[in-house]
Amino acid sequence: MHAWRLTIPSLHLYGAITRRRALPAPRTAQDGRRPHPGLSEQLTPLPPPGTRRVDRTMTDKEGQEAMTVATPPYVSDALAEQAVDAVVIGGGAAGLNGALILARSRRSVVVIDSGSPRNAPAEAVHGLLALDGTPPSEILRRGREQVRQYGGRVVSGEVVSAESAAPSTDGDLRFTVTLADGRSITARRILVATGLTDVLPEVPGLAEHWGHSVVHCPYCHGWEVRDEPIGILATGPASINHAYLFRQLTEDLTYFTHGTDLDEDSRARFAARGIRIVDTPVTEVVNDADGALAGVRLADGQVVARRVLAVAAPMQARTKGLEGLGLEVQDLPKGRGFASGPAGTTEVPGVWVAGNVTDLVAQVGASAAAGALAGADINSTLATADTDAALQKIAEASPTAATR
Ligand SMILES: Cc1cc2nc3c(=O)[nH]c(=O)nc-3n(C[C@H](O)[C@H](O)[C@H](O)COP(=O)(O)OP(=O)(O)OC[C@H]3O[C@@H](n4cnc5c(N)ncnc54)[C@H](O)[C@@H]3O)c2cc1C
Repeated sequence: MHAWRLTIPSLHLYGAITRRRALPAPRTAQDGRRPHPGLSEQLTPLPPPGTRRVDRTMTDKEGQEAMTVATPPYVSDALAEQAVDAVVIGGGAAGLNGALILARSRRSVVVIDSGSPRNAPAEAVHGLLALDGTPPSEILRRGREQVRQYGGRVVSGEVVSAESAAPSTDGDLRFTVTLADGRSITARRILVATGLTDVLPEVPGLAEHWGHSVVHCPYCHGWEVRDEPIGILATGPASINHAYLFRQLTEDLTYFTHGTDLDEDSRARFAARGIRIVDTPVTEVVNDADGALAGVRLADGQVVARRVLAVAAPMQARTKGLEGLGLEVQDLPKGRGFASGPAGTTEVPGVWVAGNVTDLVAQVGASAAAGALAGADINSTLATADTDAALQKIAEASPTAATR
């Protein structure tokens, strides 16, 4: 029990964001699956569970931490040995929903997932109709199960390369996807749903509270931290609007400019809303005796008591290993993501993108919906390709019949 909880009115709610849940047991069976012809059914055990890992490869900016956190392991399917209709790279909400639509359309689909969805540190998913309050790992567990129920496969692994390959004899597209362990798979179409990493400012002590008492999203965690003493640790212009959104949730809000500009108009508006401003840089996050976030230390040594810090962390699409696909990466107001068109189409024929990898602000519902749209579009193009191939076959067998 944290001592300070006794003095905070919404203590039970804060407890909800500081305690981690017990990890669910890994899957051991896949009853009820309808396999695709030719796909082997053996299960491959996963390596031991990972924990929080700080990934610096996603950004070349110094002084920032790109957060990825691994989830508990689950039983992996075997990789298909023959070409499949679609490989989905990334098994979060976007990838799994895309795979679900494809599998239900009787497409052979393999999801390859490295097991570190963006919201892994969070206790629960909020703001998602009908599933509000459900742990992220439980939503993904159910998602994997549902994909498998229709014959889709979910393979644990990291894609290190993906590129176009020689087309099939009937001229259809082909891609080769290679995993870190050297295995590879051939696919007719690719759905990239690798998500993004949140790039935190490198303030000592900040990263360890990520997803608990260091938060980014008022819609994901805002209700849970309402009425708490909250600090906005500014990262740039995006933090100004962030402040107004968190002011809606608490009357006790302090804005730490932390070296960023804050114009006079915003200062006046903050004053009108009772938002205090601290211009002295933050040097570290301070914990209480139980390890809970208790405040921030400033460069002048002063400690400002806070229970929660909100950080509008820049967001970087997870593009590593996907360079060979030649997808366009674009700068967006809040970070970098893959460019996309309707239903997740890209400039690269045969490749779709969905979820946070292209829409940095999509929450779970929007990401899942984007995956579903992309899955349906992929199925549609495959139906056209199948028909073209059938027609071509007829033409080759009897040239006059095909033109009738
Ligand atoms: C702390 C936190 C709390 C959040 N809380 C909420 C909330 O309450 N409600 C809400 O709606 N949203 C919430 N979100 C946002 C939510 O996390 C995203 O909307 C959602 O995860 C996006 O889904 P996605 O499928 O696009 O990406 P992800 O869920 O990140 O999934 C991407 C998957 O791709 C895998 N991957 C990446 N690269 C590779 C590769 N090379 N090879 C194989 N696999 C790869 C990753 O391991 C990961 O499993 C929260 C975010 C954070 C950071």
